[in-house]
Amino acid sequence: MDCRSISSRFESGSQLWLSRTMAVNQMISMDIRTQKTFEALFALEDIRETLRQRLPNITGQEDERIIREGVSKVRTILDDLEAGTGTPQVRKIAGTIDIRSREETYINIQPIQAAGRLTPEARKALIAYGDGYSTCDACRKPFRLDKISNPPIAPFHEQLASFLNMDDARVVPGARRGFQAVASTLVDKGDTVIVSALAHYTEFLAVEEAGGIVREVPLNEQNLVTADATAEKIESVKQETGKLPVLVMMDHFDYQYANEHDVKGIAKVAHQYDIPFLYNGAYTVGVMPVDGKEIGADFVVGSGHKSMASPAPSGVLATTSEWAPRIFRTTQMVGDITQRKFGVKEVEMLGCTLMGSTLLGMMASFPAVKERVNRWEEELKRSNYFIDGLLSIEGSNVASEYPRKHTLSKVDTTHSFDNVAQHHKRRGFFLSDELSGRGIIGEFAGATRVWKLNTYGLSWEKVRYLTDTFQDIADKYELQVKRG
Ligand SMILES: *Cc1c(COP(=O)(O)O)cnc(C)c1O
Repeated sequence: MDCRSISSRFESGSQLWLSRTMAVNQMISMDIRTQKTFEALFALEDIRETLRQRLPNITGQEDERIIREGVSKVRTILDDLEAGTGTPQVRKIAGTIDIRSREETYINIQPIQAAGRLTPEARKALIAYGDGYSTCDACRKPFRLDKISNPPIAPFHEQLASFLNMDDARVVPGARRGFQAVASTLVDKGDTVIVSALAHYTEFLAVEEAGGIVREVPLNEQNLVTADATAEKIESVKQETGKLPVLVMMDHFDYQYANEHDVKGIAKVAHQYDIPFLYNGAYTVGVMPVDGKEIGADFVVGSGHKSMASPAPSGVLATTSEWAPRIFRTTQMVGDITQRKFGVKEVEMLGCTLMGSTLLGMMASFPAVKERVNRWEEELKRSNYFIDGLLSIEGSNVASEYPRKHTLSKVDTTHSFDNVAQHHKRRGFFLSDELSGRGIIGEFAGATRVWKLNTYGLSWEKVRYLTDTFQDIADKYELQVKRG
């Protein structure tokens, strides 16, 4: 099948897939319009390179010729783009790197990728600020990233802090670097840090690097971390070691079930023991409203590439004016020969953090991110719509709390799709084959028992398509579907 016929089938919705006889264990390939869009972008970059190579504002005859040729190439590509014609001319970047078109070609339900998809504004910023230290054009005294006002990096930091209702914020290369900065400041050798039994590995590593020890709060029957269980764990650490833990770090929504944990209650318990509380918002900051002060957080950590429509690696660490002087302490080091000091450089930030297009992409997405957190309820409706549709397939279950309070969910299809896999020659891969053949990608290939998916950012049209597709696959394999 050629790309175009597949893509037009895809566009006209799930009805088409009702023809059960079709061979579907074949991936949809990139549609020609997507291919031509990339080719046009690349061809424009080649023109841009000519502009970069010439003398300032002087275009010589040879340059003129190259530009004319380049433009005519772009025109041909655009004609194909408009008509949906042509064949792929560019397959690789630098001879080895594939064009990545998963977001253009498929509905992507990959659990960690959904809310990190870039906005168009972020993609434009990537193009314009891709050069190395591009953020540093107008870096003036005191020479620190968060003080740069053009592009508006300093105001962005203020907006980030107020977005989270905290006093001070820094951008960091991923949530993990936020944990690291806090752990490195607060944790001494042998100190204990309280995390949950669903804590992310990066929390373990941040504590380990600082020489500390994690102690996990156990889950209750609903796979939730409670304030009481946290208090008990703090007590038992105190009993065992004679010392209180130095930090409580808790995920608002954990990465395994995306269950909501009582962060406010847990922060309160931590404070009763005078222990600072780190709110891990890797799955919340940028998708739902987060009010650090209301929660009682001393530190709020978010992930840019997971939940703020930002390039990797990016994230945010925000804190209160009480903690800022410690976490964002400046260097005291003096060179013994030169007597040099680097005054305002912050030790935990290693001076400057996100340079170039990573930061500019994050900034470019921020207006949209601020807006979208107010539409979280709609996201939840779509998440529950899909889960309900899946639950209507006999034998299917949801391992996460239900109804869903997040768009990330862990589902259990052991008694539905896994039954099919037992007898299918492709085993567990039959489901990924069926899904990718229908334009859905991102579930863990081969998994038919317990697996995760994320519906964040999908339109109603896509969520309906997604739901119909799972039900159609169920029909095909004679699983009962109770349609409402
Ligand atoms: C993804 C995730 C992280 C790590 O985030 P990075 O920004 O990639 O460092 C930390 N904690 C939780 C709960 C996560 O889901």
